[in-house]
Amino acid sequence: MSQTDVVIVGGGISGLSALHFLRQLKPQLSVRLFEADNRLGGTIGTDHVDGYSFDWGPNGFLDREPLTLRLVDELGLSDQLERAGANASNRFILRKGHLRKAPISPPAFLLSDILSVTGRLRVLMEPFASGPPVDVDESIYDFARRRIGRQAADYLVQPMVSGIYGGRAERLSLKSCFPIMHEMESKYGSLFRAMIAKAREAKAKGGKAGGPGGPGGWLTSFKGGLYRIVECCEQVYEEFITKDTAVRSVVRDNDRYRINLDDGESISAGQVILAVPSYRAADIVTDLSRPLAELSASIRYAPISVVCEGYLRSKVRRNLDGFGFLAPPKEGRRILGSIWTSSIFENRAPNGYVQFRTMIGGDGDHDSMMLSDEELVGCVRADLNSIIGLDGPSDKVRVYRWRRGIPQFKVGHSGIVSAIEEHLRTLGNIHITGNAYYGIGLNDCVKQSYRVVDRLQQ
Ligand SMILES: Cc1cc2nc3c(=O)[nH]c(=O)nc-3n(C[C@H](O)[C@H](O)[C@H](O)COP(=O)(O)OP(=O)(O)OC[C@H]3O[C@@H](n4cnc5c(N)ncnc54)[C@H](O)[C@@H]3O)c2cc1C
Repeated sequence: MSQTDVVIVGGGISGLSALHFLRQLKPQLSVRLFEADNRLGGTIGTDHVDGYSFDWGPNGFLDREPLTLRLVDELGLSDQLERAGANASNRFILRKGHLRKAPISPPAFLLSDILSVTGRLRVLMEPFASGPPVDVDESIYDFARRRIGRQAADYLVQPMVSGIYGGRAERLSLKSCFPIMHEMESKYGSLFRAMIAKAREAKAKGGKAGGPGGPGGWLTSFKGGLYRIVECCEQVYEEFITKDTAVRSVVRDNDRYRINLDDGESISAGQVILAVPSYRAADIVTDLSRPLAELSASIRYAPISVVCEGYLRSKVRRNLDGFGFLAPPKEGRRILGSIWTSSIFENRAPNGYVQFRTMIGGDGDHDSMMLSDEELVGCVRADLNSIIGLDGPSDKVRVYRWRRGIPQFKVGHSGIVSAIEEHLRTLGNIHITGNAYYGIGLNDCVKQSYRVVDRLQQ
């Protein structure tokens, strides 16, 4: 049986960033990474088709996480970063069948038609809202309704939750999904007061509070698509990586671990980093700790499909002057929203053409996975046509399905994660990273992988 100091299981961004930080911080440790698939990247992928770049899953990250920027820099990719164009700060929300621009300043909010007058006035009452319930893991919806009212919860918050998590605001935990908002309320007693304080702090430091693509960061990808970072990791760390080899189980072997591979081989390792989805981690640790496996398996995922379509620009009736739009469930559409990729990044469609990335599914629509590709595309076209106006068929289409796409941090999630951490402590040198525990964004994955590597014994 061959031996190594560390085994990393999974070659998505979590596993790859763990490998990178391990080589950078603790190069004296020998390491091997096993990936079940015949490609690396997990949910990250980019297809180049006749002048289009179609991202399979994520299409960017916010440039606010120093560890992601450090990873990019150390991989020598900084000059290939591509920031979203300035008009990506125009975002739209569907209300009563029409796209309304999401306001980005308080005066714009007062004048906008995104909510009714009563809805807007209720938002202004935010500083006077009641405080949080004691000892309750409050849902995002309850929090939003309490602070800014039902209409804003339905039309501003719920679509954001489905856009990021593919989730339902009434099921997800505020503390686990949006810890910053939770903290803002705890520290300042009001979101408005917190925003004013943060804007002042940012101004004092000579910066800005946000940018296109999101609060506190600028949406960023790589020239030619997000997969560039995976390709680069593979080139740099090829000698440590074995693809097409799934880890079946991890068992104790005195003070080490035996990692059993699907091909019948076993490896002995002193430390193990599990960088796989939590339902896979559950299978892998079953023989090691059944309670840990049960806890990991209890984290549920929402299905999501990404329908990428290219259109001749002249066939699209609306000017695609922004990031895209979100569709609140109250609007009764099947799609969750659509991103106007070619308006955000360069070269995502050939000259004279545009690209839409439309999301369908989520925790409120598990049945969407039963639809055929043709049916999914049909739903997307019907909705886009009535919202944006499309004359005739698309030029290109690709459908990417994620049956267990996005982990759902439901109410009670932090308790599950604490219990997982407790079990891991008793096991010794098994560590977890990935999007199922502390945050689903690429930045969260990179940050968690860094933390895990930092904790490894030398
Ligand atoms: C549609 C969609 C859109 C998204 N958009 C964004 C976005 O715009 N911005 C953003 O920041 N985030 C986004 N996300 C979230 C982000 O993409 C993910 O959270 C992140 O990529 C997860 O990375 P990971 O490495 O933890 O997991 P994964 O990408 O799931 O990788 C896990 C890897 O482990 C491998 N594996 C599984 N089992 C085994 C085994 N037994 N042995 C060996 N290997 C195994 C898998 O094959 C896979 O390669 C999006 C997600 C989806 C689905």
